[in-house]
Amino acid sequence: MSDTEKNVEKKSNHENMIILGSGPAGLAAALYAARAECNPLVLTGTEPGGQAALTNMIENYPGFPEGVGGVELATLMQNHAEKFGARIEMDTVTSVDLSKRPFLVNTYDKTYTADTLIIATGASPVQLDVPGEKEYTGRGVSYCATCDGWFFRKKKIVVVGGGDSALEEAIFLTRFASEVTLIHRRDQFRAGAILQSRLKENKKIKVIFDAVVDEIVGESGVEKVRVHNVKSGDKSEIITEGVFIFIGQKPNTELYQGQLDLDEHGYVKVDNKMMTSVQGIFAAGEVADPIFRQVVTSAGMGAAAAMQAVKFTQN
Ligand code: NAP
Repeated sequence: MSDTEKNVEKKSNHENMIILGSGPAGLAAALYAARAECNPLVLTGTEPGGQAALTNMIENYPGFPEGVGGVELATLMQNHAEKFGARIEMDTVTSVDLSKRPFLVNTYDKTYTADTLIIATGASPVQLDVPGEKEYTGRGVSYCATCDGWFFRKKKIVVVGGGDSALEEAIFLTRFASEVTLIHRRDQFRAGAILQSRLKENKKIKVIFDAVVDEIVGESGVEKVRVHNVKSGDKSEIITEGVFIFIGQKPNTELYQGQLDLDEHGYVKVDNKMMTSVQGIFAAGEVADPIFRQVVTSAGMGAAAAMQAVKFTQN
């Protein structure tokens, strides 16, 4: 390929604004940027709709008093952004060069340059890091009740965690499973009061407090988990065909390490105008939010980041 051809190809991939990620933050940013006629391109990543789309029912997004399905909300947000001209590409970013503008964004198929970036790559589930976890992921170990719950109809399963996600998903999983054993490492839940009282009312859920999983054991699939009580040290085994793990999130910031300022937990640092440590790069949603991590706050951050990014492109 001649230099001229390369230049033509590069030029055709230049964008005014690229939004990395298509969860509530990315899609809200796309809507605001599109309405400001910034012609944003959204690169969805491997999970279109982000973690919200993996949630069965979202009950606290304003305007939906009966709740709204995660996939439904993500689809509505995408349609809304597209209606105003946002372009959504099913593609995953593999590397970035943020050392100079225009910024370089490589995906599996393409290379883009962009004057402005909005980083909304979200967060991913934390792993327990015990023997058997990796081995049985997809064969009994899961991090997504909406995706995998159906496979455990009339089966006994274990859920690990004590936050909102663990309780919410444990309750959801009782639709399928014959019995759900919830294992939490302390004697008090971190989850909110409403979920705790719903959990108590659910006859299919048994709770084991003060316990941690030491190992996930099986042959062709999961057969049991070995646990120990953190106070007494007593060891026991729980027969189960599935282990659902909901013990928190870690930000998806590997791509930006050494290029953007991250905090000690790996979250992208932003100023009060959603700007990262690099001029022209903004961040929104769970990738930059270790505290609130709600669909509504992520969408709000996305809108704010887009408004600032639009201003930046006009300067
Ligand atoms: P989280 O609130 O950080 O809770 C993580 C839970 O996992 C905690 O109970 C923690 O125990 C436990 N844990 C952490 N590491 C562990 C380990 N290595 N072994 C065993 N247990 C471990 O995470 P989340 O539940 O995913 O929630 C994330 C955010 O999303 C929160 O802000 C939450 O409010 C929000 N959210 C909201 C809703 C809703 O409003 N309906 C639904 C889902 C999530 P400790 O308690 O001992 O630390």
